[in-house]
Amino acid sequence: MLEIQVIRERAEDIQTAANRKGIAIDIAELLKVDDRRRAVRRETEELRAARNRGSKTVELLLRGGRLDEAGRAKRETAGLLAALKRSEEKHRELERQFQAMMLQVPNFISPDTPVGASDRDNAEVRRAGQLPVFEFEARSHVQLGDMLDIIDIPRGVKVGGTRQYVLKNGGLMLHRAVQQLALDLLIGKGFDILDVPVMVKEETMIATGFFPGNRDQSYAIQGEDKWLAGTSEVPLISYYGGEIVDLQEPKLLGAVSACYRSEVGSAGRDVQGLYRVHQFAKVEQVVICQANLPEALARLEELTANSEELLRLLELPYRVVAVCTGDLSQKNYKQYDIETWMPSRGNYGETHSASLLLDFQARRSNIRYRDENGKLKHAYTLNNTMAATPRLLIPLLENHQREDGSVYIPPALRPYMQGMEALSTAR
Ligand code: AMP
Repeated sequence: MLEIQVIRERAEDIQTAANRKGIAIDIAELLKVDDRRRAVRRETEELRAARNRGSKTVELLLRGGRLDEAGRAKRETAGLLAALKRSEEKHRELERQFQAMMLQVPNFISPDTPVGASDRDNAEVRRAGQLPVFEFEARSHVQLGDMLDIIDIPRGVKVGGTRQYVLKNGGLMLHRAVQQLALDLLIGKGFDILDVPVMVKEETMIATGFFPGNRDQSYAIQGEDKWLAGTSEVPLISYYGGEIVDLQEPKLLGAVSACYRSEVGSAGRDVQGLYRVHQFAKVEQVVICQANLPEALARLEELTANSEELLRLLELPYRVVAVCTGDLSQKNYKQYDIETWMPSRGNYGETHSASLLLDFQARRSNIRYRDENGKLKHAYTLNNTMAATPRLLIPLLENHQREDGSVYIPPALRPYMQGMEALSTAR
């Protein structure tokens, strides 16, 4: 959410941002609606004042026994009341229209964001790690999961339908090991770690910028005003929603949660294996800091570096890409994705998404702080995936596989895997 004053001053920039993000909103029309809304509000206030004056006059005339004049004044006041009701109704309608349009307005785009139409235009920033060279026919994670009896997709589908899976023994251990390693890294970096509700109110989805735009990506709880969040970013940001927070030091928040996504619009995409599923687990990082651009940009680099550290510990090759304008969501100002090498795809696949939102989300969520002069300001917010699994199991299994189908476990994971050095069929 941007301030209407800012939208007015930078209408052209915001229209460009909307066009580049592929968001259908006419900023000039929004400004007209705002003008009409303000004019009708003034009219309503004037009518209300006139009606109040009229009522006072009637009262005085009645008290003075001037009944004829009182009757005339009463009729006039009744006319004013009818006009006031019409004006109030018009104002309500314009207000509704204005608020609905305001929720569509995108955030600004950072000047260094590459211009492009889709993720194909994202720009590589750096690569790390060596791509594996297999001297045997490499297997996909689905084949490995089957051989090792640690991933059971057919039974997952039997129980839950498409895009579902079951993780078993070493598969579940690896899934949890990755999450615990990610959490421990965050604890070491001073993050507060939280277990949060992922069943959230509709207003929470709106306040964090996920609704109304991505409504069809979420599952609603039948008969309740509740939704299943697709990421713990939603409850982590809302944790401080509506509050004035002390941001002398930024809030560093981490959570691990289940994430639910309908994946509407992805029909036929990534249907094999664990890449795109309806339910997964994610360790998320969130930062709430003062509205200071250099500091926030540095925090974005830090959040990205945290995830890169995890990938290095997992001994996985990856690259960081700057997300282009057409792939940038409504709420993001700047975004990096980290893509990890997935041999079965013959390509890097997105495993992490780091975003800076400036005060866009904090305005909607009304998260404020007092600056050094005591002035109330909206905070800046950022987020990044620390580990999303089972998607991360794809590179883990596929990059670390051996000819006999066993899978090497990097030392950083072993303390969480009962010391196991490899997953093997012997287990
Ligand atoms: P996002 O919150 O959409 O930026 O996603 C963050 C990370 O969650 C992605 O980089 C993926 O690693 C993971 N992820 C997102 N959607 C899915 C999905 N449908 N299935 C599995 N993992 C997902």
